[in-house]
Amino acid sequence: MIHLPPAALVLLIGASGSGKSTFASRHFDHDAVVSSDRLRGLVAGDESDQRATDAAFARLREWLDARLTAGGLAVVDATNVDWMQRGELIALSHKHGRPAIAIVFNLPLEVCLARNATRSRTVHASVIRRQVAQVTRDIDRLDLEGFAAVHVLGSVADVDAVSLEIEKGPVTGPSRRSVS
Ligand code: GDP
Ligand code: MG
Repeated sequence: MIHLPPAALVLLIGASGSGKSTFASRHFDHDAVVSSDRLRGLVAGDESDQRATDAAFARLREWLDARLTAGGLAVVDATNVDWMQRGELIALSHKHGRPAIAIVFNLPLEVCLARNATRSRTVHASVIRRQVAQVTRDIDRLDLEGFAAVHVLGSVADVDAVSLEIEKGPVTGPSRRSVS
């Protein structure tokens, strides 16, 4: 069971093909999820157009800022394998007084590659290999990055077994003005 505090910022972390988008659609309202692929598609007309990455991430941060200001739970569906990018997002959550939660898809490379191969839009195997290596390298240090909690899913069975509880409650933090 994964408990999420109210209005948290949730980072899904995992290589392409590790199942992040599938997990997001299973467990979260569509409105709570921001996807780097979808934003690339909006910007460039092609979800895999890497030239649109900078513009897509600029929009992702704008969306998150607005979402956290409005007091909503926000889920980032991107690989999030780069520690500097994670740091920026964690800093944003803290600016809003919100906890950042990591959900890590630490699945074997073979699983990611096999799933990737079945997709219509495949990612080069070397890219997935590098992403899996980044997750493996960083996984024991995620605790030190400022997350309020780090949930590691280490197998397909772990992912299947997840039940997720989103706590309802007062949203505290600088961005929520009290009504008087
Ligand atoms: P992402 O790149 O991390 O967002 O991965 P996706 O969620 O798009 O999943 C990649 C592929 O793996 C898709 O074809 C999914 O249908 C498949 N997939 C994702 N999660 C699961 C799962 O739990 N079980 C199975 N059997 N397939 C999955
Ligand atoms: Mg995806």
